[in-house]
Amino acid sequence: MNVTGEPSFRESVDLMFRRATALMDLSPGLEEKIRVCNSTYTVRFGVRLRGAMKTFTGYRSVHSEHMEPVKGGIRYALSVHQDEVEALAALMTYKCALVEAPFGGSKGGLCIDPREWDEHELEQITRRFAYELIKRDLINPAQNVPAPDMGTGEREMAWIADQYARMNTTDINAKACVTGKPPHAGGIQGRVEATGRGVQFALREFFRHAEDVARAGLSGGLEGKKVVVQGLGNVGYHAAKFLSEEDGAKIIAVAERDGAVVDPEGINIEELRQWMGRNQGSVKGFPYGSYMADGAAALELACDILIPAALEGVIHKGNAANIQAPLIVEAANGPITFGADEILREKGAVIIPDMYANAGGVTVSYFEWVKNLSHIRFGRMQRRAEEGRSRLLVEELERLSADKNLGWTLSADFKQKFLQGSDELALVRSGLDDTMRTAYQSMREVWHGRSEVEDLRTAAYIVSIDRVAKTYRSKGL
Ligand code: NAD
Repeated sequence: MNVTGEPSFRESVDLMFRRATALMDLSPGLEEKIRVCNSTYTVRFGVRLRGAMKTFTGYRSVHSEHMEPVKGGIRYALSVHQDEVEALAALMTYKCALVEAPFGGSKGGLCIDPREWDEHELEQITRRFAYELIKRDLINPAQNVPAPDMGTGEREMAWIADQYARMNTTDINAKACVTGKPPHAGGIQGRVEATGRGVQFALREFFRHAEDVARAGLSGGLEGKKVVVQGLGNVGYHAAKFLSEEDGAKIIAVAERDGAVVDPEGINIEELRQWMGRNQGSVKGFPYGSYMADGAAALELACDILIPAALEGVIHKGNAANIQAPLIVEAANGPITFGADEILREKGAVIIPDMYANAGGVTVSYFEWVKNLSHIRFGRMQRRAEEGRSRLLVEELERLSADKNLGWTLSADFKQKFLQGSDELALVRSGLDDTMRTAYQSMREVWHGRSEVEDLRTAAYIVSIDRVAKTYRSKGL
């Protein structure tokens, strides 16, 4: 228990795990083996900066090695600590199992406020942290593959990949030691947007099932739905942008560190993001809508869909009863505490759980890892062959029409779309869409198929734990 009288993040994950295993038929020994975190490595290292030696503390936690490599992001934040890293590593195990990414779960973190350091300093710190992890095989293409998380992105991943390559000059698979790299440094198209894109695909899939939509007391599709988003970082920005620009949802509020912007007419996400870029990440002073100094209070606004996309524990026992959204999509990891989850479920809210909702990132990371190991970009072999076959068909149809005087004409728009072979981005999006649909259906089957399973989170845990258990059993453990 922490000072707020609520379990810690890791305890929250354990309680959710136990709520699911209570409905499963696992031997107590196996249940314990799956639940516990295998190891956490703590490193303290010094870097000479600004004329003095600065000491940093970092972690890399490995939750489960039932499949290897293990996978999970590296977070840069002052709030990073062992409990948090272990909770996030556990979630990675369940997330990978749910979306059938063949990885165990891991997570890393560095106690640092990245905004306090300039780019060159951050590179020195990142390379030193990576060095400490690489020499212990806690970064390795076959054993442990990090990715971006809060406070890190393509730039940090490129430094880590380069550091690994420098220390392993003969490893032909060196690029696969980390994912989320920029495309020019071995990354994959569509990785930056992947988690937000996954949130969009998760919601699209949810809205395909009228019965599920009705459980949240909603109807229809995403068009016109009022959405509140917390955190306009990598995940929140992309989710909000795609939902508003492509699905017609209306983002009525965005909550950030220093307050919230509220506009019942809908916020232009691109404009707000650009504003933040010009104003040190602040939403204050944005010329449209109104400003609310208490950003967290925006979570309590009346809306159809609430998307917490910043950090954990933001919906807790203290505010859960005030949350009005009937549908909550956990784009962040662990945004709802165990206590708040109980309150919200009693109120009848439907929660699309983190291990599913934000799994787009690890899914596309999986594609990137496969690309790095196969040393060829997706679509390179088949794209033009696909276009050639489509062209044959179009030419044959046009020839038949002319020969038989049928007067058929194919619209220019159809021809352009039909004749375009799939490039890497199209294939990544297709693979992500398929993954999100399939994973939702596996959760849904348990949610609807077993009367004692009341919510999607428990269903997600049951699907994941069952898959991890099967792997352990087949190994003879
Ligand atoms: P990010 O650092 O890019 O963005 C986080 C955003 O939240 C920032 O804009 C920050 O200003 C804002 N924020 C921080 N504290 C806040 C507060 N108290 N109230 C409101 N806003 C606040 O991080 P991200 O990569 O978008 O990650 C966000 C969440 O999504 C985390 O929980 C992370 O674990 C999870 N996640 C990220 C990925 C990924 O691919 N990046 C994948 C899966 C899950």
